[in-house]
Amino acid sequence: MTSKRMTGRDGETGPPDRSRDLDPADWAEFRRLAHAALDDVITQVQTVRERAVWQPVPNETRDRFARSLPVGPRDLSDVVADIRTQVLPFASGNLHPRFMGWAQGAGTPVGIVAEMVAAGLNMNCGGRDHIGIEVERQVVRWMAEAFGYPDGASGLLLTGSSMANFLAVTIAKVNAMGPDSRATGLRSADGQLVAYTSAEAHSCIAQAMQLSGIGSANLRKIEVDAAGRLRPEALKASIAADRARGFLPFLVVATAGTVNTGAIDPLADIARVASEEKLWFHVDGAIGALSIFAPPLRHVCSGIEMSDSVALDFHKWGHVPYEAGFLLVRDGAAHSQAFAESAAYLQRAERGLAAGETWPCDLGPDLSRGFRALKTWMTIETLGTARIGDAILHTCELATFLAEQVKQSPIFELKAPVALNIVCFGVKGGSSEANRQLVMDLQVAGTAAPSWTTIDGEVVIRCAIFNHRTTRADIDQFMEVISGLARGA
Ligand SMILES: *Cc1c(COP(=O)(O)O)cnc(C)c1O
Repeated sequence: MTSKRMTGRDGETGPPDRSRDLDPADWAEFRRLAHAALDDVITQVQTVRERAVWQPVPNETRDRFARSLPVGPRDLSDVVADIRTQVLPFASGNLHPRFMGWAQGAGTPVGIVAEMVAAGLNMNCGGRDHIGIEVERQVVRWMAEAFGYPDGASGLLLTGSSMANFLAVTIAKVNAMGPDSRATGLRSADGQLVAYTSAEAHSCIAQAMQLSGIGSANLRKIEVDAAGRLRPEALKASIAADRARGFLPFLVVATAGTVNTGAIDPLADIARVASEEKLWFHVDGAIGALSIFAPPLRHVCSGIEMSDSVALDFHKWGHVPYEAGFLLVRDGAAHSQAFAESAAYLQRAERGLAAGETWPCDLGPDLSRGFRALKTWMTIETLGTARIGDAILHTCELATFLAEQVKQSPIFELKAPVALNIVCFGVKGGSSEANRQLVMDLQVAGTAAPSWTTIDGEVVIRCAIFNHRTTRADIDQFMEVISGLARGA
């Protein structure tokens, strides 16, 4: 065997001319700087408790990112120093144990390593035959196992559940209208398609109906019970009324963990209705689906195994670094028939890099995709579902603990039952404005970062406890500070 050596343009062998590539001239120096940057970010996570939850970006720093397009180079060491002083201090705060706003994951140190490796490999995981595709298939098989889906189930890592829900609506639409409808469009339907979800469903479900071309006016928002759960009898009645008027029901979207209060729709009952009515049964499990990792919580999502598809976010309760949304589909053929598109430049082969039948680009609209699977695979592989599940369970216990403190407080009252890890409360007899101001005061002070929502027309303080770093002491401290603020107000 002779080793092939790159030859220069004029054919002579010699050291490659590297004057025009984008690699560092001095690899040893690069290595040192890269290790230092990694150290900075590890320190950022390790010392998160010593800092404010959040602080506003100062004007000098905003100005730093309003400069014109650089033409010449700059030393990486200077750029890394900029990151240390201009980026790290003004991060969004969700790593902090007293960040309780919206529904956000805290990440884990394992995720840092995974993102570093994925960036280094820079694989395009839209398709072809390489290890990135196998790692993603492993994640899909794990989730199929976790949710009791059969062999032949398929899945895809996406940016988030907004995308996963949009794909699910698209798959259900093509399933109802047949694959030819991808070419002919909605006008080839025998009537108006309609879908069902609850009044508490996430806004991205309506948005998915808009994007799919069906229109959000054709999404029925079914009423919920006092605990915020879709009422199956109301669903049945709405389907019957639509059928009587000539509409074409095709999809029901249940929510496992509503964004307002964490309510879980009665999934098994809804599955039965969907099955009787021959509707696609999708579950938006962005918040709650991963509760299946916690054995004491398994009952909360019972019935999810009867679904046709599930959307979930590893970046919320799974603490995989953003973005890590996921869609699982029971019938892999139904999944690919909604997206697969043949193209000359994407043709498959029996061997070599273009081997393999179904590529991720056949399962969604993305062609170029990063090695999204690695951070999810590595988080689960390293921590195991038991440990992740225990962290999930702990946040639910902390939510119950916080709710107890609210109930005992002379100042505050609960505004919704606590189903999982979300606590909505407000000042007793106080106004929406009082609750809004308290949230802003806490955020600006840097002591805690709850958010808010509107329940029965009233703005309430909302603590969504997802963070695996949060402790009882954090809850105590939060209650002490917010009570002090409310008394002073
Ligand atoms: C967060 C969330 C979504 C949207 O997910 P993204 O990952 O933010 O796109 C959808 N539904 C529910 C219930 C959510 O909590």
